[in-house]
Amino acid sequence: MPRILLIALDSVGIDPLGHARPESVYAHSRFLFPPEHRSGTDAPTPIRDGPAAGALIETVVAPEDAPGAIECAITYTSIFSGQSALRAHGLMNGLGLNEQALKDMVQRANLFRRFESPCLANAIFPLHLAFLGTSFVQARLPSFDRQAIENALTLDGQPVRLKGHDKHGFAELFTLGEINQNIFVYAADEAGARLRSWSDVRQGQALTGTLTHGLEARFNWRAFGIEPLPTQTPLEAAGILAELTRRHDFTFYKYQLADLVSHTGKIELARDVFDVIETFIGAVLREIDSAETSVVVTSDHGHLEQVAFTRGHPKSRVPTWYFGHDAERHVSAMREPEGIFHAIIDCGAA
Ligand SMILES: [Zn+2]
Repeated sequence: MPRILLIALDSVGIDPLGHARPESVYAHSRFLFPPEHRSGTDAPTPIRDGPAAGALIETVVAPEDAPGAIECAITYTSIFSGQSALRAHGLMNGLGLNEQALKDMVQRANLFRRFESPCLANAIFPLHLAFLGTSFVQARLPSFDRQAIENALTLDGQPVRLKGHDKHGFAELFTLGEINQNIFVYAADEAGARLRSWSDVRQGQALTGTLTHGLEARFNWRAFGIEPLPTQTPLEAAGILAELTRRHDFTFYKYQLADLVSHTGKIELARDVFDVIETFIGAVLREIDSAETSVVVTSDHGHLEQVAFTRGHPKSRVPTWYFGHDAERHVSAMREPEGIFHAIIDCGAA
């Protein structure tokens, strides 16, 4: 039975003006955006210069003129349920992260449940931060409110401030803690996949959404009884994910840092984060055996490609990369997020 690795990159869209222009965040792409790719195309673009043969497909997560904002939960619900959360519910206002309507869709069909040994490679964040909203794992975590965090947590040696015009540390904490609010954590749990912890991360058995723990290292967690995570390189993180992929028939990992960087509006940071992404995916592809593992890399909505965008997330198309021997068979399905569910089941059954 073939193995599948699915990677989601939060907030990585297709550059609507084309990535070949020097101003593009992706202008220095090594293999994920080939020079011949044209933005807005429905045809797959072959990937020839990477560590494995593949194709780049443009996935439509929301029509440009759809009312409301595109949020992570809509796309992840579609990917993990195989049904369009957009068509079922429209673009729900707010983050919509713990909506019963989305849970119902996952209960009807759940990608993790379709495999014998599914793996969520991300570790859940070890605290429940009540001010970020409800989460799917709060019942099993120590809970801290805004005041407790402001009284005890520091970022770069400075107190964290979660309110007011200078929300020092809020975006960074959100980036780390949002994993607990994602529908795929609910989906993995519902399918009986083990939810990994930061102790798994310390043992090289899980990843956090930052890959390197550079963001985690800026906080002093000791007041909460948490020792810092040792930092690692994207190549070391790729080795951990490749090993998890070898031990499971379906493995999912989500990279979150692109979202934080997108909201800074700084193009140089966006370029750096894309460089990390390309290094990491290149290393993952070199470490796994492409004859037995298909790799799908996708995103939930755009933003990195338009770092100065200030009205939520732009409704750009997102890239879906397929690395495997039978790309042509899955291209049309992967033009929609819910089709990624069906393409993955189709590869798993091949
Ligand atoms: Zn997102």
